[in-house]
Amino acid sequence: MLRALFLAAPGAGKGTQGVRLAEKHGVVYLSTGDMLRDHVARETPLGKAAAGMMASGELVPDDLVVEMVLERMTKPSLVPGYVLDGFPRTIQQAEAAYLWGREVGTTFHAVISLAVPREELIRRVVERSRDSGRADDSVETFEHRLDVYDELTEPLLDFYRSRGILLEVDGTGSIAEVEARIDAALAEITID
Ligand code: AMP
Repeated sequence: MLRALFLAAPGAGKGTQGVRLAEKHGVVYLSTGDMLRDHVARETPLGKAAAGMMASGELVPDDLVVEMVLERMTKPSLVPGYVLDGFPRTIQQAEAAYLWGREVGTTFHAVISLAVPREELIRRVVERSRDSGRADDSVETFEHRLDVYDELTEPLLDFYRSRGILLEVDGTGSIAEVEARIDAALAEITID
């Protein structure tokens, strides 16, 4: 069963492609952004701690996110296949995920990056903010999220490239075009 994650800037299409890929492979789709927005809506302690940071485009602290994800991955039993969207987002989170994987005897098959130029990302989010109503979709906040991505998340590309599991996919063009590129890249690797 597929165990993959998407590593790409905000607005690059991780959610859209993640849902499709998970469906196609019959595995769970897990988005840390969705999980956190759900905590915010339910006003849980985690939601209350995270709301301000999310609204201003900052990352939620590593320990809180790691705990939330690993809890979901292991309860009530180990999730056998998944597509992760939005996690890990820092080297610390990637290391925690790696150590956890070693402990439970599991690894990622693939880390899929979606390359989309910054101007295209901004164009897309302007469109998205018209109908999503997401608090972190204003252009200023979005540009800040892109800077946070460049500083803290982009270095993960090298982390996974050096482990030989990075699939670099061109994220421009239509949803169907990007989906076909992802399928072609995955067809090249072994999924046990
Ligand atoms: P997303 O929907 O993935 O763009 O995430 C929305 C917001 O949730 C981000 O801007 C962060 O504030 C927070 N978030 C989501 N995933 C993570 C993560 N892995 N680490 C820290 N913060 C996260």
